[in-house]
Amino acid sequence: MEIIHVSAECYPVAKAGGLGDVVGALPKYQCQSGHIAKVVMPMYRTKFLYENEWTVDFKGSANLGNWFFDFTIIKESTNKLGFDLFLVDINGLLDRQKIYGYDDDSERFTAFQIAVVSWMSSWEHQPDVVHCHDHHCGLIPFMMRYCYDFTRLNLVPSVFTIHNAQYQGWMGWDKSRYIPRWDLWKRGMLEWADSINPLASAVKCASKVTTVSHSYMDELRFNSNGLEKLFEYEKGKCLGILNGIDNDVWDPATDKYLTEHFTVTEVTKGKQKNKEALCIQFGLDPEKPLFVFIGRLVGEKAAEILPDAIKSAIYSTKEQASFLILGSGDTAVEWQFQQMVEPYKGIFNAVIGYDETLSHKMYAGADFLLMPSRVEPCGLNQMYAMRYGTVPIVRSTGGLQDTVVDMGDTDGFGIRFNNATIFDVDYSIGRAVAVYQDKDQMQKMRQYMMQIDHSWESTVDEYTKVYESIQ
Ligand code: ADP
Repeated sequence: MEIIHVSAECYPVAKAGGLGDVVGALPKYQCQSGHIAKVVMPMYRTKFLYENEWTVDFKGSANLGNWFFDFTIIKESTNKLGFDLFLVDINGLLDRQKIYGYDDDSERFTAFQIAVVSWMSSWEHQPDVVHCHDHHCGLIPFMMRYCYDFTRLNLVPSVFTIHNAQYQGWMGWDKSRYIPRWDLWKRGMLEWADSINPLASAVKCASKVTTVSHSYMDELRFNSNGLEKLFEYEKGKCLGILNGIDNDVWDPATDKYLTEHFTVTEVTKGKQKNKEALCIQFGLDPEKPLFVFIGRLVGEKAAEILPDAIKSAIYSTKEQASFLILGSGDTAVEWQFQQMVEPYKGIFNAVIGYDETLSHKMYAGADFLLMPSRVEPCGLNQMYAMRYGTVPIVRSTGGLQDTVVDMGDTDGFGIRFNNATIFDVDYSIGRAVAVYQDKDQMQKMRQYMMQIDHSWESTVDEYTKVYESIQ
């Protein structure tokens, strides 16, 4: 099958979170299993753009309301990612350093989607499926069905995958003029709660809707930032498919970001060496268990409870644990972490920012990974942690619930708790410090979880079944 993935992120071109990891891996494994999978995304000014060779694939023009714009689609020449990668260049709109966070993001991503659909409708053939990811591509299923200029794509099936339903891309109705000439009777297919809602529109218009874990699919009917009734109504075409991880990138035996590699047989020694390097870098004690948090410092991740939970755990464990944070987001939380560095020197440290290399070193060197998330559609961090023999400490929600088994249960290897509260995090850290003393138990848990198969190979088949069901 020919599958066209449309996304705002794709690792290693541009990544802000799990979406980038998934779109960088799934197409590669789909190609390996015999499909023709391609990715099209915006052309940002990233390192990857300047370090690789590109050829011009298509030049076109379109309108965003009254604004007429030219766009160019360039293709990476060497197929180095294992799939064809296309970037959409729209001068002045997409070619910026950051992926998101600009005042004109609605205009940027609407123009991107118009360019993609215009390009696809210029082809002589039609793809078997257009697979859109998250709200930045949520208007595409609508455009393919109801815009007069794209009638050639009317019957092409589309799949929409929700990586995070908290962000929906809401736009006021004044922006409806951006969408190329469309059937005005279909206004309801764009709308939710009096505004244009690209995520809701995609749920209504796509042939199938998937999300990234089974539990998250169930949760959306009860908690989806206002779309609960929509998910209840559309449940017949929605299903959960758990994300995989890219074992080529995330392998402690070969990871290009690590200097000390290890396999399952020498996990204890290997992790200790990585931990020592991290502890030297951040002034921590390598003899104590090391707890890390890696991620966006936002409410969804319950990041704001961590400063107090860590202070509480430092007190309750009598300073028998070290903590290292890597993340950025809410400035108040960033500030709280920065304020803790000096008073808790030798026990706590924090890096505010985004650092891919350091994240790999932390998965390899840490003993425990903290994830108190309020919402976690799938969560990749806990799966990377498992692959690197790091025990995940997670709140029982979404994909965390589907992938982590508490060490108190049969074949358990992680720590689970129910509430995103200081008490639950502190208590779980206490359980972790206790199990850390039991070297045999730690080794057993590490070896067990390192061998769990989270590879994309089996997941690819699940997506193939979805595509086949809509042909
Ligand atoms: P989300 O997409 O909600 O942010 P996921 O768990 O699905 O969460 O994916 C997070 C991905 O982003 C992982 O690859 C994680 O290592 C990475 N990541 C998050 N924050 C940072 C950071 N500050 N530095 C490096 N990598 C990060």
